[in-house]
Amino acid sequence: MLLAASCALAMVSVPTTAWSADKPETTSKAKETGKAKPVPVDCAKVKCIALTFDDGPGKYADKLLDTFKKHKSKATFFLEGQYVKSRPAFAKRMVTEGHEIGNHSYTHPHLREASEDKIRDELINTQDIVKKVTGKYPTTIRPPYGEFDERVTAIAKQMGMPIILWNGGSRDWATRNEKAIHDEVLKNAKRDGVILMHDWVEQTVKVMPKLLASLQKQGYHMVSVSSLRGAKATAPGDVYPVGSEKDEGLTSDSPTGDPDDFAQSPADGS
Ligand SMILES: [Zn+2]
Repeated sequence: MLLAASCALAMVSVPTTAWSADKPETTSKAKETGKAKPVPVDCAKVKCIALTFDDGPGKYADKLLDTFKKHKSKATFFLEGQYVKSRPAFAKRMVTEGHEIGNHSYTHPHLREASEDKIRDELINTQDIVKKVTGKYPTTIRPPYGEFDERVTAIAKQMGMPIILWNGGSRDWATRNEKAIHDEVLKNAKRDGVILMHDWVEQTVKVMPKLLASLQKQGYHMVSVSSLRGAKATAPGDVYPVGSEKDEGLTSDSPTGDPDDFAQSPADGS
């Protein structure tokens, strides 16, 4: 199982940091690959954190990618198939620039209330559109609202993918305030933490240069979730970070499903 997961990861990941802990690359080798390649980060040795962005590609994703590029940092984007279809260039750019893409369903339904066929369709259609647009399949699933049940877990297992939740929120969708978002993330930041944010929240994108600078000042390396998982590679159907599914405050970090929380549509012009 572990081997299968590692192989799947290796095949679909750009050769940056995604599986560096499984198979560390030497620094000298990394230098040979040229200046555009980031030096691989070994999270066993340095302080890592994974910043994750749900519901995109959002209309501000381009600006967010500029910021990550400038700070030589990596993010993980849990994308909705419907927006990959409407903003393919953003999804493609995420992969080209070495970020990780995860599956966040096609239309963001409550999976616990959906039929098994619907769950499968939502996940498989998103796999397909991401592959079509970026050339790579997502290797992880984050269910909308962080909600799942044993059917979702079983389907994830069949699809060969772990379920990725988070253990630190930003409440960006609720506060829509740059300082509040910055301070909330710093409050929740911890080594090997997984932070939830949204690239459709304009204030999140605006505060990101300051936030990345603050985190870097504290010694953090911003890496993809798969880099964090590294040697501890999660098996298909397993939940990561370990124990996050038991966190009762977890769902309060995620938008409640109020349409206002999803202030974008495929037709919003970007
Ligand atoms: Zn979501």
